[in-house]
Amino acid sequence: MKVEAGTEDLVQKDRAHLWHSMAKYNEKAAPMIVSEGEGSWFTATDGKKYLDGVSGLWCLNLGHGRQEIAQAAYDQLLNMSYSPLTMSHVPAIELSTKISELLGESYTTYFSNSGSEANEVAFKIARQYHAQNGKPEKYKIISRYRAYHGSTLGALSATAQANRKTKYGPSAPGFLHVPPPYSYRSSFADRANSDLAAADYVEEVINWEDPETVAAFILEPYISGGGVIIPSPEYLTRVAEICRKYDVLLILDEVVSGFGRTGEMFGFMHSKDAQPDIITMAKGLTSGYLPLGATAVRSTIYERFKKQETKAHFRHISTFGGHPAACAVALKSIEILERERIVERVATVSQSILSKLHQLNMLPQVGEVRGIGFLYGIELVEDKETKAPLSDEKVGAILAACKEKGLIIGRNGDTIPGYQNVLIIAPPLSSTEDDLHFLVRTIDTVLRAQA
Ligand code: PMP
Repeated sequence: MKVEAGTEDLVQKDRAHLWHSMAKYNEKAAPMIVSEGEGSWFTATDGKKYLDGVSGLWCLNLGHGRQEIAQAAYDQLLNMSYSPLTMSHVPAIELSTKISELLGESYTTYFSNSGSEANEVAFKIARQYHAQNGKPEKYKIISRYRAYHGSTLGALSATAQANRKTKYGPSAPGFLHVPPPYSYRSSFADRANSDLAAADYVEEVINWEDPETVAAFILEPYISGGGVIIPSPEYLTRVAEICRKYDVLLILDEVVSGFGRTGEMFGFMHSKDAQPDIITMAKGLTSGYLPLGATAVRSTIYERFKKQETKAHFRHISTFGGHPAACAVALKSIEILERERIVERVATVSQSILSKLHQLNMLPQVGEVRGIGFLYGIELVEDKETKAPLSDEKVGAILAACKEKGLIIGRNGDTIPGYQNVLIIAPPLSSTEDDLHFLVRTIDTVLRAQA
């Protein structure tokens, strides 16, 4: 639906009836009503064009307006608009087969609607898997502080960002947290090896808890919304080894990192021997064109569910999960990623973007620049020595100045009160050279002006 610019009536209706996601209520600022998009840019009803430096919410990987993707949805909706859940359909069969091929081993996929739901499904599968192996007490799920795994109550219990959970407690029982491999503010004294120390700590926790009670460890290969934390590839290799040792399922949340964001098809592919038992996907799976979540499970794990008896039945229902149009869109989106060799391009181009962003390290308020592929974080501080986080107001002023210049970027989620000090940058993977040049130049100009 195209919208005329400056429509006061829409603003009134928005304030009266639309409950916005993520943003705080603000009666002074007019809502930004997005009306059109093209490539990495969108137009709002203020008439201005903005470069979307966070790909919507890390999802619009191929940018707006891909005719072929829209056509795939249209054709599918016209041909067969819904398929009953007890039956199967061609787009889901083809997509689950494609996902297995991309993962390099045989996986079986359960489709849902979102990243949160994909993680809920993963937790339920992990617990039921152990129960079916005669270990119903092996139910605990470990995740990391600063992690975000979704907003539904199970996924929120795995999320370990305090401010997101207050008021919604108590969390579901059986969820534990360990420190992330965050070398800039390491919980471990030996900074040189802090990534591996963080991995080894997972083993300590498993032992303290009793391995016979731990079902799974869930992590993003690279923490995204929690502040773009990029450990060395050895971290994940070590974590995977620990999980194997204790029969703890390795669940990788690739909701953000999947489908090319990090310069590999999946984030775990940067690390040796880190093949997950379960991998969850959403967002970039359809390039954000339609909602779809996926939980891919090693086929050897699925074997345990292939029994006639009722006890082995996996009890999860998702009316719209794996909708035929969403699966058709995902297939087309993956076809484009491969045909245009987009993941390879991300890997190459990211080197030069990172080296330009690293030049900002010399500014007084830049504590650390981190990144991989098209996923970057700039941690801002008041003082490089004390690493006191830059105040909310100053970070807000930087985001506002970027917006003023036509660039939308984000900041990390509410990890610890007072620590929303990481700028988050994740442009569409199909961004042109000009787009990327504009993005880096704008951030550079704004940070220098506010140094
Ligand atoms: N996992 C990660 C890493 C995410 O970033 C998100 C969403 N930001 C989710 C899970 C949840 O996805 P959704 O919003 O589709 O439920």
